[in-house]
Amino acid sequence: MKCPVCKYESLETNEIEPDLFADDCTKCNGKWISSDNYENWLEKQTAILPEIPLRADSDMTIPEFELARICPNDKRILIKYKVGRDLPFTIDRCGNCAGVWLDDTEWSSLKERNLHDEMNKMFTDHWQEEVKREETRKALDGIYQEKFGADDYMKIKDFKSWVENHEKSGEIMAYLKDKNPLQF
Ligand SMILES: [Zn+2]
Ligand SMILES: [Zn+2]
Repeated sequence: MKCPVCKYESLETNEIEPDLFADDCTKCNGKWISSDNYENWLEKQTAILPEIPLRADSDMTIPEFELARICPNDKRILIKYKVGRDLPFTIDRCGNCAGVWLDDTEWSSLKERNLHDEMNKMFTDHWQEEVKREETRKALDGIYQEKFGADDYMKIKDFKSWVENHEKSGEIMAYLKDKNPLQF
């Protein structure tokens, strides 16, 4: 099999995790994981690891290659799936043989967040819809931040969550909306 990125480079089979075999490209460090290899490995995992949230100091940017890649196994076009969960990259998957291509640091990035054992779910409608919702939330968050300014928006959000969790939230809101709360 040839690397779908470097084209002429042959892939070498390596055990990237205990019991997980991938075909690696020594030039670009990409990995091809066949559906069978992934499923076999997943079956041997005793539990799905709990997802680890993104570190606050993380500033990961991974360049995405826009060119479509070709499946090294059956020459079909690989389809890009967004990972979401604040991970800014896509995973290429073959719709025919269900093999997956991971660029250089993608496997380790997934592993850092314990998402490597949920890779099969990322190709479902359910996961992709959640990615879209997450993007919408972020876009709206950006709009409000611009409207109010970062500092005020932070205060507003803090206040909102304080009010919403307050046992007298209805009364507090009524007080706020009343132009003259000290007058009958
Ligand atoms: Zn390569
Ligand atoms: Zn394929």
